Amino acid sequence: MSDDAPQFETVRYRVDGAVATITLARPDKANAMSMQLIDEVDAAFSLAGTDPAVRVVVLDAEGRNFCSGHDLAELVGPDADPAIVAERATAEGKFAQEKRMYVDRCVRIYEFPKPTIAAVQGRCIAAGLMLALVCDLVVAADDASFANPVARMSGMGVELLLEPWDLGIRKAKEFLWTGEPLGAADAAAAGMVNRVVPRAELADAARALAETIALVPPVTAERIKDSVNHTYELMGKRQSWQYHFMAHHFTHNTATALGMLADRQGMGSMREVFEARDRGDAPAS
Ligand code: ZN
Repeated sequence: MSDDAPQFETVRYRVDGAVATITLARPDKANAMSMQLIDEVDAAFSLAGTDPAVRVVVLDAEGRNFCSGHDLAELVGPDADPAIVAERATAEGKFAQEKRMYVDRCVRIYEFPKPTIAAVQGRCIAAGLMLALVCDLVVAADDASFANPVARMSGMGVELLLEPWDLGIRKAKEFLWTGEPLGAADAAAAGMVNRVVPRAELADAARALAETIALVPPVTAERIKDSVNHTYELMGKRQSWQYHFMAHHFTHNTATALGMLADRQGMGSMREVFEARDRGDAPAS
């Protein structure tokens, strides 16, 4: 670890040889993505981007779970941040806030010039899934599970639609409609995950993969990434994201969604929201 690494509060950043590791560090909140965490992940990527010693970035997480998604407590309910609530009070404000904090930040990781590897254990949910899947490679622990269970709460996936690209068309529809989690082995079989390793070996496996990739001359590694991503661009990946984000915001602002949001005001945690959904307390439409 470099001694002059800046101290973030919700993220740990360290450089060891050619590999920078960015660690989500809110394990008591299942690494829910607060605005601070999103800002700090972005700042850590800036450090990795400008450090010539860094050739590969590993994005991992502390604790049992990789990431439970956006920190809803900041957005709705008694502990919500008034400034965020105010900005999200209109369709225009909600669009601008999600574009700035969710879309642009994730697209930046997708287009980050150096190879990126997500190392995922436990639950990887909704926006946490988006964060993992905008990385180039995903190494999963055998206890990892992937889910985007927001459709019954009116959500049209999250802000970027990764599933058709990473799961295939049929699996993507099933995954989004049912909200059922995909285990690590199934995710690997579908192509969403590169390799599955025992939980105890996750950090070493991600590290070993990163060190292998770090042997590639940086310019070559960057061009390989860019060229593979360009293939997706010819298939319309970014254009489909723009379409999806507009549609995502239509479903954010339907009467159903706004009514459900009002119903959720008293619920503090993602777990409570999901449990209410599963009990059928949330409107079914
Ligand atoms: Zn959204």
